[in-house]
This record gives sequence, C-alpha cells and structure tokens, in this order.
Amino acid sequence: MMRAIALTDKEQLEYQERSIPKIDEHEILLKIHATGICGSDLRIYQNGDNRVTFPRVIGHEIAGDIIQTGKYVSSFHPGDRVTLWAHLPCGKCYYCQKNDSHFCIKGESIGYQIDGGFAQYMVLPRNFIEYGSIQRIADNTPYELASLSEPFACVLSGLHEVKINAGDTVIVYGAGAIGCMYIAAAKKMGAGKVIAVQRSKARQELAKQIGADIVIDPNKFNTSQIILEETGELGADVAIVTAPSVYVQNEALEIVRKKGRVLYFSGNKKITETPINTNQFIYKQLTVVGTHGAPRDLHVEAVKWIDEQLIDFTPFISDIFPLKDTKKAFQTALDKKGLKCVITPWK
Ligand SMILES: [Zn+2]
Ligand SMILES: [Zn+2]
Repeated sequence: MMRAIALTDKEQLEYQERSIPKIDEHEILLKIHATGICGSDLRIYQNGDNRVTFPRVIGHEIAGDIIQTGKYVSSFHPGDRVTLWAHLPCGKCYYCQKNDSHFCIKGESIGYQIDGGFAQYMVLPRNFIEYGSIQRIADNTPYELASLSEPFACVLSGLHEVKINAGDTVIVYGAGAIGCMYIAAAKKMGAGKVIAVQRSKARQELAKQIGADIVIDPNKFNTSQIILEETGELGADVAIVTAPSVYVQNEALEIVRKKGRVLYFSGNKKITETPINTNQFIYKQLTVVGTHGAPRDLHVEAVKWIDEQLIDFTPFISDIFPLKDTKKAFQTALDKKGLKCVITPWK
C-alpha cells in the first residue's frame, strides 16, 4: 500500500491509502521523494480546472527514484535518481514537432489528467518517457532542490525571451519563489542591477538575501521615480512581471527605457479588459513577451543549473512538510509568507 493525498473536490484534500500502482511493459514506477507546490496547484485547489477530474493526486514539480521499469523501457533503470518536467506531449502534433511540446495540442500534464506528486509512488506513462523529460540528477543533489527543476525551467524560458545582457538593469515585480529565482538567475547571467518590487515585508527581506540590489516597497515609495533615479532617468533595460496585476503590467511598460524588454510571466486572476497604452510599444520600440511553461530543452538546462549549483537554490525552499501535512502546506503557500513549499512523501 502507499499513502497519497487526493484532491476530491475544490479545497478538499483527502489522505488516502491506495495500492501501489502497477505499470505495464512500457512504463516506469517512480518512488517520489519531493514535490513542490506550484501556483497552478493552488489554483486547481481553489477553483478546480477543466483538465482535472476528481479525485486526482495533483502536483507536478517532482523528484524521486525510479524503482521499476517495464521490459520495453531501455533508457532508464531502477536506482536512477531523477526529476521531471510537467508535460505529457503526444510527440506528433504541430507544437510537439517544433520543440514547443509544452503547447502540445492534447494539453496533458502530470497532476492534471494523470496522478502526480503528492503521493509515495506514481506511474510515468509511455508518452512521457518518449517525449517528456526525465532527467537524472547528480548524486549529491538533494531531491528537494531537484524538484525545483520544473519551475526553474519556466524561469529560464522567460530569461531566454528577454535575454539579459551584461550590465542590464532588471526590475522584478513580485518576489515569491518565481520572482526570487528570476532575481538570482538574472544576476548570474550578468545583470548589473536587479531591483525587486514587493509589498510584503517578509519577502522584501528574502529578495535582499537572494541578491536584489534594491528592494522597493510600492506601498511606501513611488516605484517609477526610484527606477528613473537609479537608471540616470533612462528607465530599466528589462522588466519582469511575476505578480498577477494589471496595474503592474502597465507600470512595467512605463519604467523600461526605449527599446526595453518586458516579460509577463504571471497571468491575471480575472480576465479584464486591460487598457494598455500600445503607443508605449511603438514609440519606445519595446519588446513585450509572455511565457508559459517551458520547452523541454530548458528543463535539461534547469537541471544543469541545479546540479552544478550555478546559483544557490536552497533559499527558494522556505518550508518542507511531510505528506500528511499537505493541507497545512497548501495553506502556508496560500498565505504567501515564505517561498516554495515542498512535500516529502517519505518523511
Ligand atoms: Zn509548476
Ligand atoms: Zn503534441
């Protein structure tokens, strides 16, 4: 038997004893050691999702050990320590053919259409083994840190779009787990000055610890004015918006310089008719991009960053919970005081 936490309805996480899932000859059985709670898990928990039917074990930021492989699986072996990407590509559609399989037309992901990480074991299906991304991790990489490979791949995807140049001034709106990863990675990629904009006190401190040169509290200070002062009245080179706010999305367009780059990472809770001044795009010749998920090759890259400790990943995890406390972990994540909450199903 194994332990699992199933979402049985909105806001209903239920502790269950289930039999260990059986694999067929093309599948892998994974023993799960760490699963991070993603913003999208919180959305499924609160609002449900049209791709999720209940009961479902959600969670897609996963690291663990391969313990059993079907007889036709040749690329992995029992004992392999691995971390996963989230998508289950079909391998055949337009996007799968174009290294954009995170936009696979089937739209299947771990923890959505199949059971995911808030359990002691899970099955990795054939299409995931063939077209997804299962990456071996270094012997000394802890599972908790390895579970950051999926969200960090998404961060890298954003950074590839806006391209950080040496000396760039980069503004990061929102210093949650994703915002803090942007701060640290932008620094590593050569940003000169990284300015974080964050309302909550606790996260202001974290942003500083992680390497933000300046942290602005927008409740107390005029963000645009400080950014102009810090950039010799030019404006920032890059703005990255990880906070779900239309107001901030507009401000980002104003505080970048001419030919600046703006990345929208976080969607808005409600779709509103956002009045955006498109003249900013034109007369300032801006590059404005959004990113969602990450292509498979950037998952490979993310694992490299973690294994080689190109930045210190330990501060991004603020709370680790045993499986039985998953509900508490979700509440902690919703309270937004810390950064990433991780569940360890065997502790
Ligand atoms: Zn995620
Ligand atoms: Zn596809």
